[in-house]
Amino acid sequence: MPRIPMMAGNWKMHKTADEAVDLAAALRENLGPPAGREVMIAPPFTALAAVARALTGSGIHLGAQNMYPEDSGAFTGEISPAMLRDARCSHVILGHSERRHIFGETDDLVARKVAKALASELTPVLCVGETLPEREDDRATEVVSHQLRAALKGLTKSEALRIIVAYEPVWAIGTGRTATPATAQEMHATIRRLLRDLFTDAMAAQVRILYGGSVKPDNISALMAEADIDGALVGGASLKAEDFIQIVQYK
Ligand code: PEP
Repeated sequence: MPRIPMMAGNWKMHKTADEAVDLAAALRENLGPPAGREVMIAPPFTALAAVARALTGSGIHLGAQNMYPEDSGAFTGEISPAMLRDARCSHVILGHSERRHIFGETDDLVARKVAKALASELTPVLCVGETLPEREDDRATEVVSHQLRAALKGLTKSEALRIIVAYEPVWAIGTGRTATPATAQEMHATIRRLLRDLFTDAMAAQVRILYGGSVKPDNISALMAEADIDGALVGGASLKAEDFIQIVQYK
């Protein structure tokens, strides 16, 4: 089964609810039902419910940017999977490098989040990626493999199949410095090999691996031409309808 390309927008800490609805409506109007592509947008929590209403019937998926792996309780400032489902999210971005590096999320916490998201019928978009010093030390493969193994530990094949992986080299996020298609492809192939080793060939062939890191309308086509790049997780360029639409409609 061919892997359907997926373009996901991570809006980070941008946009009030009204601004988010305007952007979602512009995407909906100009994209139409995305044919042959899957599209997901992840606005801030405060805009989720309003954006869900704006997207009804559009075929565009709604995602959250984070989640705490408990049903409810004394976890001030956190949000549960049930709350995300209630806001009509189908996806959740987990282990984003900003969560790992600014907020100190560990591999163990990310693994608990992935397992809880799966148990809650949310599709995790699991982010992995090395920092610049790690790449310069020739440790990129080791770091990414470690993050991936940790996040998948204990999952069955059918659970792991429901995950979307996003390879996001930290040095390329928000810096304007994109990995070359060849560099990205090399890591995507490594990730797919690891999935093969941990599960099966057929499973590894089905999992989508997105690239993230300064994806723009002018570099998406070259990235998507690579065999193991199945889509993109887009930050900055997903905040402008025109740019994100061009990315989704790459040739
Ligand atoms: C991201 O936030 O996941 C990201 C890749 O950001 P940017 O596209 O701005 O580099």
